[in-house]
Amino acid sequence: MAECVRKLIIAMRQMREFHILAKTAYTCPDWRGDAAGSTLKENFVTGTATAQAFEPRYIRLDPNDNVAIVVNDRGLPAKSRFACGLELRTFVPQGHKVALSDIAPGEPIRRYNEVIGTAAKSILAGEWVDEARIDMPTPPELDSLELATAVPAPQAPLEGYTFEGFRNPDGSVGTKNVLAISTSVQCVAGTLQFAIKRIKAELLPKYPNVDDVVGLTHNYGCGVAINAPLAIVPIRTLQNLALNPNFGGEVMVVGLGCEKLVPERLLPEGTDSSVVRMQDEAFDGFGAIVDAIMEMADARLAVLNARRRETCPASDLVIGLQCGGSDAFSGVTANPALGFAADLLVRAGAAVMFSEVTEVRDAIHLLTRRAANEEVGRALIREMDWYDGYLAKGDADRSANTTPGNKKGGLANIVEKSLGSIVKSGTSAIVDVLAPGERVRTKGMIFAATPASDFICGTLQLASGMTLQVFTTGRGTPYGLAAAPVIKVSTRTELARRWKDLIDFDAGRIATGEATIEETGWDLFRLILDVASGRTKVWSDRWGIHNDLTLFTPGPVT
Ligand code: CA
Repeated sequence: MAECVRKLIIAMRQMREFHILAKTAYTCPDWRGDAAGSTLKENFVTGTATAQAFEPRYIRLDPNDNVAIVVNDRGLPAKSRFACGLELRTFVPQGHKVALSDIAPGEPIRRYNEVIGTAAKSILAGEWVDEARIDMPTPPELDSLELATAVPAPQAPLEGYTFEGFRNPDGSVGTKNVLAISTSVQCVAGTLQFAIKRIKAELLPKYPNVDDVVGLTHNYGCGVAINAPLAIVPIRTLQNLALNPNFGGEVMVVGLGCEKLVPERLLPEGTDSSVVRMQDEAFDGFGAIVDAIMEMADARLAVLNARRRETCPASDLVIGLQCGGSDAFSGVTANPALGFAADLLVRAGAAVMFSEVTEVRDAIHLLTRRAANEEVGRALIREMDWYDGYLAKGDADRSANTTPGNKKGGLANIVEKSLGSIVKSGTSAIVDVLAPGERVRTKGMIFAATPASDFICGTLQLASGMTLQVFTTGRGTPYGLAAAPVIKVSTRTELARRWKDLIDFDAGRIATGEATIEETGWDLFRLILDVASGRTKVWSDRWGIHNDLTLFTPGPVT
């Protein structure tokens, strides 16, 4: 039987079906690590909902793991006994790790069949493996990584899936119909917001096919070293933001007149009459300036109002993936379901981006192997290396990523968080790497290098051309973007219930055994098509709660 189990696992790995492995990992095999006589019994999935609420349960992701996470709401007290016979010696909170075997000081602690650290002190089977008991390993060396050594074979194309989108003259397709007004400098932000209030009240009612008016305001444009090499990041971001497919190509800029970032730099080549410059001597007072902004907006709203949704293949989607407020379930429920949905999107021909450098850094050895070719592998390393240097300059490293909430949710360190984070990228080859704010140039699974900060990642993915984002969360966040719908996916059912009017999709059903990763992934895929079509509105859009655009500005301020 042990041989049978081993072969099954190897076969699954070869298929790169991590999801399936995770699905069958809700087992309680011999917790001393000897698989002899045990079976991959899905005891976790059995029983009624009532029984599930009380029966002590854990999730072990790989047979080689010597820790598992506790599933039960509110955790489990000492003396709780799992079906396999393991008894807890201490209280273990929900989502936190329990030792499945004795672990001596210095011995590796394994989750996802990867080393997430070494035991800082002796740990006994049944004890809570909290953060203080784990020493963090060093990150993978960047100069000895395997490049494109395990490129996944293309999966069967998925035909016939469509959504109702707004096709643009350049061929791109939006999921929303939004007038976006660019700004070249923070000085004009208040004026633009004043004008937008009037535009929404006085003009928007005339144009029922336009969803919204959004000011692309930010803190950049002046008081910065505009010619420093790193200035390219925020400038490129602002240029590309204006070209997001949800904005229909109707670019206009509000500027001041003396700023370093001249407004014309934000206009696509060949357009030059779409700037309102506040210091222009023709304007007699604030009212005249606001009138000019409204007049320019009116003309663009009329064009946007003629846009209509039409049936488009799913291959026209540009989807961004992100997580925030992660917990130990992120890598077990929401991210695997999202990874499954991402594979479906890639099979359907869409462009899909995952990001957040500090959350992939410790798992980079798993990604460079998946690179479609050595060039893509080297580009992954380039982005990791640049970020290592960026953090080092600030006297920080990737351990600065984890938050108190992450740790409360059971994630001991960035290594464990990273392993759970990359699962959302699915199992397909990584076909391209974008520097921060670069535009998407290919279909398939793409790594778009961004900080992990939710708002900065969101802003950069919008600049890359993202028309819809899927965001997984364990702790919960009201995060939303005005420019593109954000589907928020909870890792736990308890959060989805409590935040029933903020969370759009519950992946916690996977942990409670009510649904498989595949079923949940398919449901999420269908929801993505629905939201992209405007048929379903995400909660952040229903409430109108949206975060600020936040530029990544690694260059110097003057
Ligand atoms: Ca994030």
